[in-house]
Amino acid sequence: MNSDITIAEAPPGIEGQGYFATLLEKTIGLARANSIWPLPFATSCCGIEFMATMASNYDLARFGSERMSFSPRQADLLIVAGTIAKKMGPILKQVYLQMAEPRWVLSVGACASSGGIFDTYSVLQGIDHVIPVDVYVPGCPPRPEQIIDGIMKIQELVKHESLRRRNSPEYKALLSSYGIQ
Ligand code: SF4
Repeated sequence: MNSDITIAEAPPGIEGQGYFATLLEKTIGLARANSIWPLPFATSCCGIEFMATMASNYDLARFGSERMSFSPRQADLLIVAGTIAKKMGPILKQVYLQMAEPRWVLSVGACASSGGIFDTYSVLQGIDHVIPVDVYVPGCPPRPEQIIDGIMKIQELVKHESLRRRNSPEYKALLSSYGIQ
């Protein structure tokens, strides 16, 4: 039977009869990257594009990410899609803080990334004013293909992240620049 399913490549390692040796870091990265649990923080139109990304045409389940988490404690990817009012900034930060490490952030669309067309007193001019962002997806709104591309870029980060990164002085300095201990 023909199938379009491609199998994820095993991390580089040494093979022999009955054994396969690789780095624990690479195995953990591969497992994490293909089982990301997203938490959608969708506030406006970009959220609709994200819903399309989840639905059957684009089917995020192909990436192991069909399990939406509406509890920050059971999520490792915060997807911010939509306009974020300044009043909402502390709530977004609180959601981020409730997520366990390792956690990643995808900023979807112009509003989340830079305030978009809403250059006004009430709109946060980019979520990176309150939390660190790993990948930005441009567009107003971005198409589902772009959101998928953003998620694939997150997967690359996850796959290649060192297990020591979260304890590194650079990461701690990044968090402390946001007032996070
Ligand atoms: S970037 Fe455009 S589509 Fe997305 S939330 Fe803002 S106004 Fe809506």
